[in-house]
Amino acid sequence: MRTSQFPLNTVKETPADAEIASHKLMIRAGLIRKIAAGIYTWLPLGLRVLRKVEHITREEMNKAGALEVLMPALQPAELWQETGRWEKYGPELARMQDRHAREFCLGPTHEEIITDLARNELKSYKQLPITYYQIQTKFRDEIRPRFGVMRSREFVMKDAYSFHLDQESLQKTYNVMYQTYTNIFNRFGLKFRAVIADSGAIGGAVSHEFHVLADSGEDAIAFSDASNYAANVEKAEALAPQGERPEAAETLTLVDTPNQHSIEEVSRFFNVGAEQCLKTLIVRGDDNRLVALLLRGDHELNPIKAEKIPGVLSPLQFAGDEEIIATCGCKPGSLGPIELKIPIVADRATALMADFICGANRDGKHYSGVNWARDLPLPATADLRMVVEGDPSPDRQGRITIARGIEVGHIFQLGDKYSAAMNAAIINEAGKNQIMLMGCYGIGISRVVAAAIEQGHDERGIIWPNELAPFQVAICPMNMHKSDRLLETVEKIYRELLDAGIEVLLDDRKVRAGFMFSDMELIGIPHRIVIGDRGLDSGMVEYQGRTEHESREIPFSEIVDFLK
Ligand code: ATP
Ligand code: MG
Ligand code: MG
Ligand code: MG
Repeated sequence: MRTSQFPLNTVKETPADAEIASHKLMIRAGLIRKIAAGIYTWLPLGLRVLRKVEHITREEMNKAGALEVLMPALQPAELWQETGRWEKYGPELARMQDRHAREFCLGPTHEEIITDLARNELKSYKQLPITYYQIQTKFRDEIRPRFGVMRSREFVMKDAYSFHLDQESLQKTYNVMYQTYTNIFNRFGLKFRAVIADSGAIGGAVSHEFHVLADSGEDAIAFSDASNYAANVEKAEALAPQGERPEAAETLTLVDTPNQHSIEEVSRFFNVGAEQCLKTLIVRGDDNRLVALLLRGDHELNPIKAEKIPGVLSPLQFAGDEEIIATCGCKPGSLGPIELKIPIVADRATALMADFICGANRDGKHYSGVNWARDLPLPATADLRMVVEGDPSPDRQGRITIARGIEVGHIFQLGDKYSAAMNAAIINEAGKNQIMLMGCYGIGISRVVAAAIEQGHDERGIIWPNELAPFQVAICPMNMHKSDRLLETVEKIYRELLDAGIEVLLDDRKVRAGFMFSDMELIGIPHRIVIGDRGLDSGMVEYQGRTEHESREIPFSEIVDFLK
């Protein structure tokens, strides 16, 4: 491609509603344009990336034996009434009427449609197991569309659905999909984690989410480096035994006191009952000087109590890279005090503290829970680490890391939730009707593009992983229009690269070098070569990788091989 035929739509201005890097960069680099809240057009450059995400996903799904279908966006209410979701789904479901006043919705997901297909098309157990998938546009009337295509109202999803005779078969396909997702996200070149998740509005018992790790992620995920345990924090909380789990943090106060306190001391200190201290997390500095109290529950009372203590520090003063021991109050007698070590990065302390609550006891009756106050400005928390002493987290392995994640994929074992409601049965080996079991598997195709940028960018622009880059190589010729021999050489290299199967963007605009460079950096092309008259004399091309700070010279004769 040449920029004369493939115009770049880069802009200087960042839209006022763009809060995170990927949103800003997708607008500035000319990947998307907003039409209305949460509704976007993909420009040619952005679409190239979206198509790559689709392509990799499609290849891996095909490899796993899934069959591609294409289901309608517009779905009749009757199917949703069969499963009860017409009532239950709530205002996120975009409902409408046709000219005959029949009710429809724009599909946010396709369980009803696929189950209807399966009950009509699948007759015998011999056709099972089977997995269908599609790459298709979804509609969700999100209460707060934001972050560009990360949380939009219309977006592209890959959704897959599997049908089974028994649980063993469902588990087998689920494992295949888990591995397929791992392959897909590895091919994207992104850092990710698969975590145990809550199955939300889709339902079912077993589910995993795939998260791209990024500080701006809306979810907090917890993972243990001593074992395979990894969970969405929402789920980590849900795993805690009921009754022993602390409530969400509501108020943060920091106080300066000389000592670490036991729960009894704390209750005396604040003149509150031990019950109330169960709702208290104390955090102190290693030097025994700094104590932070995360007060939960009675937030009317506690800050007042705290203010009575001399030397109250405002949360913002709580800074420094020191390691902090957190002691979590427990019911006297039943649970021992809990200690957590949390190295906290200076300017993030406030957000972290306000966000964070976790506990585990020493006598093996564990609980763990972390609550992130979602309405706070998103903190950068990727390097929050906590070490839980004793027996933490559900598989009782030692060290847990909390990180921010962007949910890019979600797999579920649905069981018979939809198939039973819609009577999707087949004839089994005994000749009897049997309700099928189902799994479902989603990837947020458009969200992956934004997530890749969250993970890969710098002050100059986007840094694409090779597999997702819209072009691999940018050729920037210096004053090509003034030199015939330069024009000839540039055309020759351009051809050779194309012939070698490399996607090249030749910048044939009559613009300054600096202008070309900043555009190519902004749109994130991984490799750039600069060719000028001087280089022709010396036989050298200037090469610079997107993440490198200096260029180097490479002989003309080697450049194609070098870039292959
Ligand atoms: P979230 O928790 O972010 O709202 P979800 O759990 O509601 O997502 P799922 O029903 O699991 O989403 O859908 C499968 C995938 O679709 C998600 O993992 C995510 O990558 C993507 N997705 C969901 N909602 C949106 C949205 N509003 N915009 C873009 N992608 C989305
Ligand atoms: Mg959602
Ligand atoms: Mg979710
Ligand atoms: Mg989900």
